[in-house]
Amino acid sequence: MRVFAAIWEALFPYIPRCVVCGTEKDVSCYLCPTCKEEMDTLIMGLTDTTGLTACAAYRYKGSAARIVQSFKYGGNRWLSAFMAQAMLHAAVNTHTGFDCVCHVPLHNKKRRKRGFDQAELLSKRIAALTGKPYLPAIKRIRNTPSQTKLNAQERKENMRGAFEAAQIVKGRVLLVDDVLTTGATAAACADVLKAAGAQSVTVLTFARAEEKE
Ligand SMILES: [Zn+2]
Repeated sequence: MRVFAAIWEALFPYIPRCVVCGTEKDVSCYLCPTCKEEMDTLIMGLTDTTGLTACAAYRYKGSAARIVQSFKYGGNRWLSAFMAQAMLHAAVNTHTGFDCVCHVPLHNKKRRKRGFDQAELLSKRIAALTGKPYLPAIKRIRNTPSQTKLNAQERKENMRGAFEAAQIVKGRVLLVDDVLTTGATAAACADVLKAAGAQSVTVLTFARAEEKE
């Protein structure tokens, strides 16, 4: 088997590709120099949202937005490796301390349709990278209608009673999602986590979208 692997490796050596443009030229940490330059202009960090401490790796624009689309709807789960690393980088840069990792879950129906839960994948990768425990602490008990056309207040209403705790939680929780918009969904999850015993909740996302008017 090892011989086979060695032959395979010689025939098809692993060459990292840029996660944005796919080039194999001068790629380091998943990005080519040109795409890194663009992504660097989108770097975010701590971000304001009502009543929540939140941190995002990038603004939801340009290549950062395309990566999210390709990950969620293009079935490119492998992008989670890059995304989790970028998110962890943002957490370290903003001195975000945490004891365990949770995620904003999809409803089972949606998860079955998509085939995976994007935030679960990201949170498990972050847990693995940091050695902190991953807790499936939140359950989505109501399949909420799409929020894309709702404003902040409507989103808050939409999220009422959508989640419940699946277990007791302790310490500082890192709540992971792919994109943060108004923060209504994350806030509903944070409330559930705090009621379940969390000392504090910090939201970490790959991207932060501008709020809809
Ligand atoms: Zn590139």
